[in-house]
Amino acid sequence: MLIAASRASNSDITRPEKTGVKTNEKGWIITDKYLRTSKEDIWACGDANGIHMYKHKANYESQIVFYNAFLGEQVRVTYHAVPTLSSPSQK
Ligand SMILES: Cc1cc2nc3c(=O)[nH]c(=O)nc-3n(C[C@H](O)[C@H](O)[C@H](O)COP(=O)(O)OP(=O)(O)OC[C@H]3O[C@@H](n4cnc5c(N)ncnc54)[C@H](O)[C@@H]3O)c2cc1C
Repeated sequence: MLIAASRASNSDITRPEKTGVKTNEKGWIITDKYLRTSKEDIWACGDANGIHMYKHKANYESQIVFYNAFLGEQVRVTYHAVPTLSSPSQK
């Protein structure tokens, strides 16, 4: 038997919107091309933003957040190397 249950955000439990961080209609944290959230000084990476939920994507995004949040750089995230049929849009 194969059960493909998919995955869902747990923002119904963690309630990130209480900090001012906006989520989309599915509960994923909305991030821009620099992985900033809607709340100043809060970034998000990995599965939390609901984009290409893979381990290597989470690792890659954590590097982007490090550069931007801790080093004050303006590194844009790009998903051109992620094998996928869909292309999530970002601001
Ligand atoms: C069954 C399965 C198979 C997968 N296989 C692959 C694969 O083959 N290849 C691949 O690339 N990806 C795979 N993935 C996806 C991959 O696991 C995720 O994309 C990756 O782990 C996301 O990393 P993350 O750091 O964003 O989140 P996570 O790895 O989920 O880490 C989040 C952490 O936050 C902790 N946490 C949650 N809530 C709180 C809280 N309130 N306070 C403090 N800590 C909290 C959790 O305990 C967890 O340790 C698979 C996923 C699943 C479910």
